[in-house]
Amino acid sequence: MHQLFLLLGSNIAPRQKYLEHAISAIQSDIGSIWKSSRIYESPPLGFEAEVNFLNQVLWVETKLNPQEVLLRIQKIEIYQGRQRIGAAMMSRTLDIDMLYYDSLVINTPALTVPHPRLHLRRFTLLPLVEIAPTLVHPTMKIDQSALLKACLDDSEVRAITEAAMDRID
Ligand code: AMP
Repeated sequence: MHQLFLLLGSNIAPRQKYLEHAISAIQSDIGSIWKSSRIYESPPLGFEAEVNFLNQVLWVETKLNPQEVLLRIQKIEIYQGRQRIGAAMMSRTLDIDMLYYDSLVINTPALTVPHPRLHLRRFTLLPLVEIAPTLVHPTMKIDQSALLKACLDDSEVRAITEAAMDRID
């Protein structure tokens, strides 16, 4: 079994439903979920949008190789109405990023693992620290807690409480 970390993101309503559907699809098409973080809310980074992102990190156990995982996450994104037109940075129904795959380092045109921007983003590091604080980044050689301490992103990222869960769209 391989240890895979995925980041889910959505900033088009119904955001929470997109995450829930993604989780079901991941369980049936990619592997079983060993741990999942709480859902975090964060402002869009690098572009303007009215709706904040919901983000969640999943720790998945999979038999698939990284290329197969990429094909399946792209299938799930498209199935959920993700459109790739125009700017790369735009609102999206569902985005799935591969953060880590075991301690593999992959640098191909289609796939970079660990995800090249994960250490720059609080919305990725906070949920990672919640479920895998001691996981070591294979090239930076420090764990998720240390990556978060070193991260210069000061955007406001907060976990959604259980009580607030049914008030978000
Ligand atoms: P995005 O628009 O952020 O979803 O980027 C998707 C594109 O990035 C896809 O065409 C992938 O081939 C490529 N990509 C490269 N590395 C990764 C990764 N670690 N996880 C997901 N997509 C990746």
